[in-house]
Amino acid sequence: MKIKALNGFKDILPEEVVLWNRVEKTARSLLQRFDFDEIRLPILEKTELFARSIGEATDIVEKEMYTFPEKQITMRPEATASMVRAYIQHGLYVRKPVQRLFTIGPMFRHERPQKGRLRQFHQLSVEVLGSENGRIDAELMALASQFFDEIGVSVSLELNTLGCPECRPDFRRRLLDFLEAKKELLCEDCRRRIGTNPLRVLDCKQQGCRQQVIDAPSMQEHLCSGCDDHFAGVQKFLTALGITYRLNKFMVRGLDYYCRTTFEFLTADLGAQAAVCAGGRYDGLVEQLGGPKVAGIGFAMGLERLVLLLLQNSGTLEATALDLFVAGLGERATDRAYALVNQLRRRGMRVAMDHEGRSLKSQMKQADKASASFVLIIGDDELKNNAGLLRNMASQEQLSVELQDEEIEAVVSSLLPAHTESG
Ligand code: ATP
Ligand code: MG
Repeated sequence: MKIKALNGFKDILPEEVVLWNRVEKTARSLLQRFDFDEIRLPILEKTELFARSIGEATDIVEKEMYTFPEKQITMRPEATASMVRAYIQHGLYVRKPVQRLFTIGPMFRHERPQKGRLRQFHQLSVEVLGSENGRIDAELMALASQFFDEIGVSVSLELNTLGCPECRPDFRRRLLDFLEAKKELLCEDCRRRIGTNPLRVLDCKQQGCRQQVIDAPSMQEHLCSGCDDHFAGVQKFLTALGITYRLNKFMVRGLDYYCRTTFEFLTADLGAQAAVCAGGRYDGLVEQLGGPKVAGIGFAMGLERLVLLLLQNSGTLEATALDLFVAGLGERATDRAYALVNQLRRRGMRVAMDHEGRSLKSQMKQADKASASFVLIIGDDELKNNAGLLRNMASQEQLSVELQDEEIEAVVSSLLPAHTESG
């Protein structure tokens, strides 16, 4: 019986890894320009960390976590909680009053797998801890937006506010009154949510529920003066940075720790899985997890959805091309090729050869399949003169070169259009 990967867990094959590397490289370069530092966090954490931060009555904690109950540990479903845990544990606030951090890695949620929705998926998480200034909110959205520009994916930004512990309870009551009156018309999940997490009814994906909440009260209209000023500020800063957005009173985000600003970047090209990046403020979270009273904000980008978009845009996947394929003919020539290949790799070239003594024809086929830019042919005759035949695969031109790695490298790199490292 063949063993297959678990449902919702996916192998990322070499051709696709090229895209993943592009995404990560673009992200790292941009985050560096925005003065963010990378942090790497463990995948397993105490279950309590997620229950206390994300919230007991959320989809994630209620039904999506991979938990080992007897050990009371969980595979992280997202990175913010771990980021805040590390921030507190290592006293990062002592080193720098405002920490700008990011991490890239796998997350685990037990949900129904479909296109753009897996059980192990990857996120880029970007967080700023230690500031409640609305300039940071807008700057983070500008960062994400620039990332989408640089990677070449078109998205739209939606913005909302969830108020704070001062103004949300009153809004929640108004919303409850509104929802109670419509209870019979809502889906089963939403009828339950009215009791546990009524705000979540606002972003139910069911058409029937959407219809019912069109006239629901909006948090934006029930903010306390602090939140109102903050929200106005964020919008002003977005405009100052040239970022266009649309207000969406139905966007609530599924995690308990959010307050004030929430946002999502959406694509029109992935069907139901429209959100490629989502984030918001969590000003009370650090304190709630036992740290100092500092504000925080962050976003998480779903990398599978991003790679899917890149695939849809480019159509085909291209394997990384070889700089040079060395074809040795005969035993002595193959031995010479073997040492030469090793030298050329030390000099920074992507080089391959055949070790199985195949015919020239078959080796040329291999070189072609690997999209080699050049083939160096070494036969026993050439070997006598310490020379090889270097063939330019694009122009079909051939020239004799001395079998010295410097010379070969010099010829190849002078002729290669872009002799850069891949990925
Ligand atoms: P969704 O509404 O699609 O379930 P979410 O609100 O649960 O998303 P977040 O927890 O905010 O998502 O995660 C941020 C981003 O991570 C999402 O916008 C999405 O791009 C990605 N993401 C979330 N869950 C998955 C998953 N199961 N598979 C792939 N990507 C995911
Ligand atoms: Mg989800």
